[in-house]
Amino acid sequence: LRDGSGALCATGELAGLRLLASGKVRDLYEVSDTELLVVSTDRISAFDVIMTNGIAGKGKILSQLTVFWLKLLEGEGIAHHLITANIDEMPESCRQHAHILDGRSMLVRKLQMLPVEAIVRGYITGSGWVDYQATGSVCGHVLPEGLELCAKLPNPLFTPSTKADLGDHDENITVEQCTSMLGDGPSRAVSSLAIKVYQFASAYAAERGILVADTKMEFGIIPGTDSVELILGDEVLTPDCSRYWPQADYAVGRDQDSFDKQYVRNFLKSINFDKKTPLELPPEVVTKTLGKYNAIFKMLTGEEPRL
Ligand code: ATP
Ligand code: MG
Repeated sequence: LRDGSGALCATGELAGLRLLASGKVRDLYEVSDTELLVVSTDRISAFDVIMTNGIAGKGKILSQLTVFWLKLLEGEGIAHHLITANIDEMPESCRQHAHILDGRSMLVRKLQMLPVEAIVRGYITGSGWVDYQATGSVCGHVLPEGLELCAKLPNPLFTPSTKADLGDHDENITVEQCTSMLGDGPSRAVSSLAIKVYQFASAYAAERGILVADTKMEFGIIPGTDSVELILGDEVLTPDCSRYWPQADYAVGRDQDSFDKQYVRNFLKSINFDKKTPLELPPEVVTKTLGKYNAIFKMLTGEEPRL
């Protein structure tokens, strides 16, 4: 199920594995009662619309970068869902599809995902900037007056959003709304864990000349247990879910050059994309996007992705 450029746009039927769900980018298969296989395809979505063509190799970059970060975060005591990303360590039901799955798959603990996305912002841009201009605050955090576009925030902010169903748009919510959805204790726990992840990642990236402007993560709990331990799931600190800015070119008051999906959003804005109708990204946008994803992978890991 590849497009004309060879991008894997859907993994489709994999004998022996049950397709549980298909998100905008990832296909989820059930491996056992407690384990899932998360397969990152080469699909790209922007403004919650899946484009008709993919970006060949993007799924592998996302998957391998997530694995890279999860292993680093494990060293910081953060519990996560990854069991293995090594195809040779996976059950035969997965291994038999190695030619499709290798390099783009994670065997993970099946989680009950929380109904919020945990976004942390260190800088004010994107929907945070839109909200700030309209209200002077973001997700209930009142901010200093006179901040310029892309200004560094006094401290990283937890700015949750809803997890919309496929086809719907995620919406920013206040911390108060998050608390009424999750309860006070869990909401505080998500906030402090998300900020811890952000702070670790931004310190790590800063040593490599990169600013993490913001990032989105998802937590879950082990279903069917009394444990309320939060487990970091989904993808982590990828250029799909984060904004990565080169420190050397950073200046307030304007948009930043970036190594992430912002480039695609900007292209779509430039052609007055209606934010509804899937379209085909032109070849030069595909190439440039892949180049940016490759570049940030190398800057952060010091290695080439295994494509
Ligand atoms: P969302 O906006 O919810 O992220 P999406 O369309 O972006 O939806 P994808 O990111 O493509 O979805 O697919 C990943 C899906 O898998 C998400 O719905 C995420 O909540 C879910 N998920 C990630 N890790 C786990 C896990 N360990 N157990 C169960 N579900 C998971
Ligand atoms: Mg997602």
